[in-house]
Amino acid sequence: MTQHPRPIIVQKYGGSSLADVEKLGRVADKVVAARKAGNDVVVVVSAMGKTTDGLLALARQVAVVPAGAADPPRRELDMLLSTGERVTMSLLSIAIQARGFEAISFTGSQCGILTNDRHFDARIIEVRPHRIEDELARGKIVIVAGYQGMSYKREITTLGRGGSDTTAVALAAALSAERCEIYSDVDGVYSADPRAVPEATHLPELDHAMLQEMAECGAKVVCAQAVEWARRAGIAIYARSTFDDGPAPRQTVVRTRHDREHLTARAIVAEGNVVLVRLPPSPGHAVVDDLLRAAADAGVAFKDLAVGPTAGTAIVSLLNVPDWGAARRALLAAVPSLELVEGASVVSVVGDGFCATVEPLGRLLAVLRAEGVTPHAVTATPLRLGAVIDTADAARVQSALHRAFVAT
Ligand code: ASP
Ligand code: MG
Repeated sequence: MTQHPRPIIVQKYGGSSLADVEKLGRVADKVVAARKAGNDVVVVVSAMGKTTDGLLALARQVAVVPAGAADPPRRELDMLLSTGERVTMSLLSIAIQARGFEAISFTGSQCGILTNDRHFDARIIEVRPHRIEDELARGKIVIVAGYQGMSYKREITTLGRGGSDTTAVALAAALSAERCEIYSDVDGVYSADPRAVPEATHLPELDHAMLQEMAECGAKVVCAQAVEWARRAGIAIYARSTFDDGPAPRQTVVRTRHDREHLTARAIVAEGNVVLVRLPPSPGHAVVDDLLRAAADAGVAFKDLAVGPTAGTAIVSLLNVPDWGAARRALLAAVPSLELVEGASVVSVVGDGFCATVEPLGRLLAVLRAEGVTPHAVTATPLRLGAVIDTADAARVQSALHRAFVAT
């Protein structure tokens, strides 16, 4: 391994921090400041603003066939979407060089990010950052296009929506970085989404396991796969706002804590855009087998799958399903009696072992009843209580749950 005379810092900037030339310039200034402070700096960038959404919309437009279906091939989606981050990486490198510092940009595949071959939401398998190490040793600032890698079949892959965070954490681990700083338009993690729950409070410190649970249930500040990497590799994450240039910026520090004294609910999170799948009775699980096969072929993953001899439920998050219309047809073709509850949200209470008794579940049901909401399904795990409800009720229920569980 290359010896590094200076500590390595990995910084990741989200799309809203890079939305226009002025903002990109501010990011260049921040990167240069970190370099001047005596660090080796690796910067991972997202695509500018809503670029990824725009590219995806374009793909859906050109994919329309006379029958009306729009099912763009996932391989081509990855070729297309990975260009968003290439735009930002090169612009940022140009901006940094214009400030008199040496910089070089790399795509995910150039910096050795190897993934499985699951297009649109690939998982990183290995990172071989030799080119980054060589350029750092030459004194350069290295800029990396986030959200992308290369499969062992030498195909370009993307890491699922929000995947630049994963690039940053995986690189921090592979480079034995001091830390990974994730910059966005919010100054860290809150006890609920402040847009839905104005009285949400800032959480200055958080355990990896807790943030992973929150991210898997829809919290957006850092993507779930990134937190999982950070947890496994023991990388501390510093979530900060790009726009807070003060001497002591507010932040959330995420690390693994071994003291489990909390035993309370810490946050309310919600994931919109989910579908609840209800399975018909399936003696011998024959229907489940058919459904799982169809889901695998359609590239759909299930969360909270619960099956028994008389019925079952599963949740599909549509975030990383590029075309639900096609997937829906495939699932119904395999199991015609499947019942789908669309336009749903999952609202969750997340905390440290707070569901050890049945009392919190009773409280959740009481809150829903008081709000006049009948849940489609409810789940309880040691870290989480979740309710599948109509999206129209989601904001109101988040506020009520925040009052009942967190703000007490
Ligand atoms: N640009 C990608 C997205 O919008 C990846 C990222 O932002 O992290 O999902
Ligand atoms: Mg993002």
